[in-house]
Amino acid sequence: MQYDVLVIGGGPAGSSLATRLAQMGRSVRLIEKERFPRFHIGESLLPFAIPLLEQLGVAEQLAERFLIKHGAEFVTGDGALVRRYPFAEGVVDGPGYAYEVDRSEFDQLLLDNAAAHGVSVEQGSRVTDFQIDPAEGVEVSVRDGAGQVHRETARVIVDATGQRALFAGQFELRQMDPDLKNFAVFSHYEGAARASGDREGDITIVVVPEGWWWVIPLKGDRTSVGLVAPGRHLKGRKADEQYFLEKIAAVPYLAARFGSARRVAPVRTISDYSYVSRQFAGDRWLLVGDAAAFIDPVFSTGVYLGMLGAFRAAETLDRALTRQRFSRRDFAGYERWLRRVVERYKGFVSGFYRPEFVEAMMNPTDRLQLRQAVTSLLAGRGTGSFAVTWRIWIFQAITRINRDYPLIPRIPGRREAAQGVSASM
Ligand code: FAD
Repeated sequence: MQYDVLVIGGGPAGSSLATRLAQMGRSVRLIEKERFPRFHIGESLLPFAIPLLEQLGVAEQLAERFLIKHGAEFVTGDGALVRRYPFAEGVVDGPGYAYEVDRSEFDQLLLDNAAAHGVSVEQGSRVTDFQIDPAEGVEVSVRDGAGQVHRETARVIVDATGQRALFAGQFELRQMDPDLKNFAVFSHYEGAARASGDREGDITIVVVPEGWWWVIPLKGDRTSVGLVAPGRHLKGRKADEQYFLEKIAAVPYLAARFGSARRVAPVRTISDYSYVSRQFAGDRWLLVGDAAAFIDPVFSTGVYLGMLGAFRAAETLDRALTRQRFSRRDFAGYERWLRRVVERYKGFVSGFYRPEFVEAMMNPTDRLQLRQAVTSLLAGRGTGSFAVTWRIWIFQAITRINRDYPLIPRIPGRREAAQGVSASM
């Protein structure tokens, strides 16, 4: 076998995994189909990613290149109700900050860092085919930019192809979440209004009756803005440029922030369907990042969970390589752990599409430190802390009661939209 591990895909999950394995002394090959830098959506990081980025050895470069983010702010479309969650106020200790990143730059930084750690990286080449022999190893076909195909071998293979989900597609493992069949439409602006001081880098989530908008200020003067909503609200329309411009102008909070701003990027649309793979591992293969599961991005969890899973997968693979055992059973601990993390966040994210849950997010209580627990969850501590877990159970119980009994002030329009009654976004 040419390599210990072959990683397909050089996004944050693939490059983090490759770097960790190289740090453990393993020989790693990474094949990435694009040439970096390349555009990717997903610009807001979570504080609990910071210790992972430190271990990868890139924390200092992040501080130089990207805008620091101290909190997440939720605001209603009319701007009347604002709730800020400063990361420093979590119920458990952790980094009180993260970054807003230009993904083309961030992903390249991580991929270059993998190469600097000794990972053999090939960009501009696509894995087109793979064969797995449980007894021997894996072999892949790689088509380079010039159309030439060559074959490569390794003891074990990791699918980090993001939403392309190569293995889950091929093995028919992908389960779509019927409750989160959303679309996203987004662009970049210059000259949008932004807060100053500590709040400049806050992500703002703008709650509208049918869904939500993100506003992510980037370093310099650029701001990313996008809408996520269930597909049924399109009512036969296309989520194109005209749609995007109409919608942004119709939300008073956004109209005020972007009124005199200039659009500097095309309007892009992607489907934002959440899914989970039925299996996260098999004999001689593992899934990481979006290739394993994609959870709606309302809480900006994608990059962090992808990296967290990559770190866990690296430990699992390092052990497997030491023992020379690569069956699915040897990866069972990784599968169980990842399933738990995904389910926890999925539950919380689905909640956001229910009016009673948003009402509780906009009016959290400090009793029992529930607001602080939600803060920790928003910072990325959704699992692994009982102090957070039991409080989130109570928070969710309150939202359930709030569905039928008005414990918390209602937000106009949201309940009607959830029931399918027309409301303007
Ligand atoms: P990716 O970053 O997608 O990387 C996969 C790589 O694999 C790609 O570079 C691709 O070119 C490569 N590849 C694919 N197929 C092949 C092949 N056959 N051969 C070789 N290479 C291949 N996350 C956040 O953390 N914060 C946010 O604010 C956020 N906002 C989001 C908004 C939207 C609308 C969406 C859809 C997602 C958002 N996310 C966000 C999620 C985030 O973008 C992803 O979770 C993250 O990029 C996953 O990283 P990854 O490494 O698994 O996959």
